[in-house]
Amino acid sequence: MKKIKFTKVQKKRLLSIASGAVLFAAGGICRLLGAQLCSDILFAAAGLAAGLMCIVRAFRGIARGVFFDENTLMTIAAVGAVCLGEYPECAAVMILYQVGELFQSVAVGRSRRAISELSSLCPDSARVLQPDGSYKEIAASDVNIGDTVQIRAGERIPADCRICEGVTDIDTSPVTGESVPRGAGVGDEIYSGCINMSGTVLAEVLKRSEDSAAGRILKLTETAGERKTRSEAFITRFAKVYTPLVALIAAAVALLVPLFIQIFGGPSFSETFPDWSRRALSMLVISCPCALVISVPLGYFCGLGSASKKGILIKGSTYVDTLARVDTAVFDKTGTLTEGTLSVDRTEVFDDGDAASLLRLAAGAEQTSSHPIAKAICTAAGEIPAASDITETSGVGVEATVEGMRVCVRRPMHSVEGTAVEVTADGKSVGYIYLSDTVKPSAAPALSELREQGVGNTVMLTGDNESAAQKVAAEVGIDTVYASLMPEEKFEKIEQLCADGCVMYAGDGINDSPSLARADVGVAMGALGSGAAIEAADVVLMGGDMTALAKAKRLARRTVRTVKANIVISLAVKLAVLVLAAFDIVGMWAAVAADVGVCILCVSNSVSLLRK
Ligand code: ADP
Ligand code: MG
Repeated sequence: MKKIKFTKVQKKRLLSIASGAVLFAAGGICRLLGAQLCSDILFAAAGLAAGLMCIVRAFRGIARGVFFDENTLMTIAAVGAVCLGEYPECAAVMILYQVGELFQSVAVGRSRRAISELSSLCPDSARVLQPDGSYKEIAASDVNIGDTVQIRAGERIPADCRICEGVTDIDTSPVTGESVPRGAGVGDEIYSGCINMSGTVLAEVLKRSEDSAAGRILKLTETAGERKTRSEAFITRFAKVYTPLVALIAAAVALLVPLFIQIFGGPSFSETFPDWSRRALSMLVISCPCALVISVPLGYFCGLGSASKKGILIKGSTYVDTLARVDTAVFDKTGTLTEGTLSVDRTEVFDDGDAASLLRLAAGAEQTSSHPIAKAICTAAGEIPAASDITETSGVGVEATVEGMRVCVRRPMHSVEGTAVEVTADGKSVGYIYLSDTVKPSAAPALSELREQGVGNTVMLTGDNESAAQKVAAEVGIDTVYASLMPEEKFEKIEQLCADGCVMYAGDGINDSPSLARADVGVAMGALGSGAAIEAADVVLMGGDMTALAKAKRLARRTVRTVKANIVISLAVKLAVLVLAAFDIVGMWAAVAADVGVCILCVSNSVSLLRK
């Protein structure tokens, strides 16, 4: 059990509860001893002690023109109870109300803290190499692109940078939720928020701290609250109507019922009024919508928070709702279902060319492309010749002038076995480069888990050819495959699928941003180092592990289930107690207890989403 630190207001509440409870107990003892007057005074004092904060807030609210807030309602109920001579009721209302409020604020504070732990992703300072060879510690936000920073073992990385000296292991789990450390050496990019585990490294800063991985995550989580779900909007509207309505009904019960009784020949108004106003006060207590107003947004908040701890960033609670409804999952092949780090398998050279010069020409043309194929070719070629007039056509290939020739590297015109690109020089085919990619080990388990989570249809979209696509599909268990697609055709397929169901599209963000944006939920995978994917997607998985996708879906469903349960439970209990109070079956005591009880139940329900 973690120690709870109370805030100032919480301490005040605790004090008022404690003093109220002591006075209440004293009042109870006096009543047992038969000292009626003394016990009434003690009960009233208990109510005052416990309710002082509430009364002060009620007056402040009224001064601001807010009449129907819970403080006002509770104050009216307590004052009413005193007027009717129900002193223990008055004290009970206030003490229980404070207990409920205290619990809520502790729960909300705790979940806030759990989530704001994310903000500790960015270290405060960084050690920057000075021209004289010494190091100066400066604020991480002041680090500039091109600076060289020293990162010692155990420290967090202050900004996205590239290692220029040293080797180490990097723990990416604070950002990606994936627990296996990655080795990193000279030339490797490391990202802010991750932890340097073993060695001291020198690294060149590539991005300013606020544009780095951790900074982007923070920005995302800060704006996530702005996109409200329908349930949240409903609750806000509901509370606006519900409270005044119930207050009005309570007033009618207190005044009109006794009036009608008298009109229709029953006992006089003054005789029945105290009884009916007591019932009305109980109803007033129930008119606080606190359980709903707090637990529903808190539920989504905790859902989002729990996800971000696992390296799943959801850009707003609406997407939690949509993610829970998803029944069609569409995947990009390269980099999503497969590792996306391709390697050159073999080459096929025509005429009298040789493999080395084929690769060299291709690498020249590919040198500026971020496509996995380009990276594989450049790695295989080793030396990369200069090139000019480079143009890249998304989903097709690249073209450039290399060694005086117009070189194209692009998808083959004829069908080939596996993933391959054709290289042409001055319009003449010079050969093929065959590449291989490995399927992510997490892909097959993730797909079967998604199926269990209600995703009935899995689809793969790829620009690669049919044979390569079918092979991967069979390995991971995809239902439908569409191969040889151009990026715009992928977009059209998504559009068609969206017409029939709720579609999630998972891609790596390389040339598929339109699809990410068009799907009901766009999920960018492996977004640790890339900015563009984060912009277009609704859900961002920092790591590349496919099971995170299934986790996201499961968590979304759990969140929606919890929120729905909270809405149903609190409405049902409110309604039941409202009716019971009107018929005088339960008194104010029970009404407050029910109200606080439901509130505590719903809030803990929401907070439980933060636990595993
Ligand atoms: P995927 O659906 O596998 O992500 P893309 O749409 O990115 O595929 O690309 C489709 C095809 O276009 C690739 O299989 C490749 O043949 C060709 N292609 C795309 N970009 C390049 C490039 N930079 N160099 C060579 N070929 C490319
Ligand atoms: Mg792609």
